[in-house]
Amino acid sequence: MATFGLVDCNNFYASCERLFQPGLRERPVVVLSNNDGCVIARSNEAKALGIAMGAPFFKVRQIAMEHGVVVRSSNYALYGDMSERVMSVLASQAPAHEVYSIDESFLDLDRLAVPDLTVWCQDLRRRTQQWTGIPVSIGVGPTKTLAKLANRLGRPALPQGEGGR
Ligand SMILES: [Mg+2]
Repeated sequence: MATFGLVDCNNFYASCERLFQPGLRERPVVVLSNNDGCVIARSNEAKALGIAMGAPFFKVRQIAMEHGVVVRSSNYALYGDMSERVMSVLASQAPAHEVYSIDESFLDLDRLAVPDLTVWCQDLRRRTQQWTGIPVSIGVGPTKTLAKLANRLGRPALPQGEGGR
């Protein structure tokens, strides 16, 4: 049976914004679309405040102000650069991988000869975070669809927790 892994960067754009500003680590962070119109990424803390993916910013401005939410304009040069770093770690660790989006990659784990796939995935997660600063989740399954589903199921249940970067 085939074995696929899906590596997905957690809250990718928000995680990138935090990288070079450790002061943002404990605070809720949202990233806005090109014209600063809509929320396109949220840290877990921002999700927990009920700030929805895709929400027009004017609708969440009040709650953002009340809770000290850090609001960032999107910086695609930074996200592209961090994506390349994450993908090159994955390329160096997995037998084969296929970049699926800026923050997701499918790993082909068929040819991976390891005694315990769970332990291997935990190591890969730790290593990716250590080497790039970006937290990732990994789901594993016999098809790409199931690997993706496993990835989503493994995440904390937060309001509006799914979707987006
Ligand atoms: Mg993601």
